[in-house]
Amino acid sequence: TGRKVLVTAGEILVEIMATQVGQSFRAPGPLVGPFPSGAPAIFIDQAGRLGQPCGMIAAIGADDFGTLNLDRLRASGVDVSAIAVHGDAPTGTAFVRYAEDGSRAFVFNIPLSASGRIALTKEGRALLERADHFHVMGSSLFSPAVVAVVTAGIEQVKQQGGTVSFDPNIRAEMLEAPGMREALSQILERCDLFLPSGPELFLFTQAQTEEAAVAELLARGVRAVVVKKGADGASYHDCEGTVSMPAFAVEEVDPTGAGDCFGAGFVCAWLGGAAPREALRQANACGALAVGTKGPMEGTGTAEAVRRFLAAQQETTR
Ligand code: ATP
Ligand code: MG
Repeated sequence: TGRKVLVTAGEILVEIMATQVGQSFRAPGPLVGPFPSGAPAIFIDQAGRLGQPCGMIAAIGADDFGTLNLDRLRASGVDVSAIAVHGDAPTGTAFVRYAEDGSRAFVFNIPLSASGRIALTKEGRALLERADHFHVMGSSLFSPAVVAVVTAGIEQVKQQGGTVSFDPNIRAEMLEAPGMREALSQILERCDLFLPSGPELFLFTQAQTEEAAVAELLARGVRAVVVKKGADGASYHDCEGTVSMPAFAVEEVDPTGAGDCFGAGFVCAWLGGAAPREALRQANACGALAVGTKGPMEGTGTAEAVRRFLAAQQETTR
């Protein structure tokens, strides 16, 4: 049997960053970028770099921002055949600035960009037919059209006997959009792996403790829950119990994309049949490499980089 094929769908964009903390977007100032970005794009880039057969359903404009992303994903080994190029819509963008307190503020152009035109094309269907696993990124569910593509992906892969993972990765205000909470609840009930970060664990539960929330989710049909905890590491839960692992001690240069890289590290190991502890280890390594590098997708490590990182960690803890 060959290696499993991992597919995701969602937004591709470029990120352009203010270079000075406290900088305003109401006056001219220095910027750096464009960097390839978009949560599902970061996820699939990380998977490709780990050597996982994978592809993405997405849409970009016929412009340099689109080409930048396409070239990057292709170089990482991602199947880009289902990334549609639109002549009449620009590639998505995100301008980000950093406040003194470490928080970030964005100017987004996503729903009105090519990413808002995502549809299930002939190429997308062909990719899904080869898929063994479908990953859903909550940030991608910004319009009913994208929800429809994601739902079709889940159903197709499930029909083929495959598996589904779901990272809610959602801004609270998105949940209040009409029909969104229902759509997300349905996706939750179809997923094998649920990968919330911190308080996202409680988005769909009555329970307000980790243990009780996990029990509630497992009872609803989720097979395993992986809770991301930033610098505190992560915990894996299934019906057999819990495995927790601290994060690796690294300097945090830029947290953007850590959760997406962590998710890809976990899902790829899990698809390869790794035990939870081993999958958490690879996921923590991918997250640590991501936070150590500036730029949303710049910290995705290759399989070789992850191996070297883990080997170095073993040296220091021995
Ligand atoms: P994102 O901002 O990408 O949405 P997230 O909130 O989904 O991130 P986090 O919990 O912040 O995800 O980070 C995911 C994983 O990355 C953590 O579980 C951990 O393995 C690793 N990680 C994050 N921050 C650090 C850190 N400061 N040091 C070491 N590892 C980290
Ligand atoms: Mg996240």
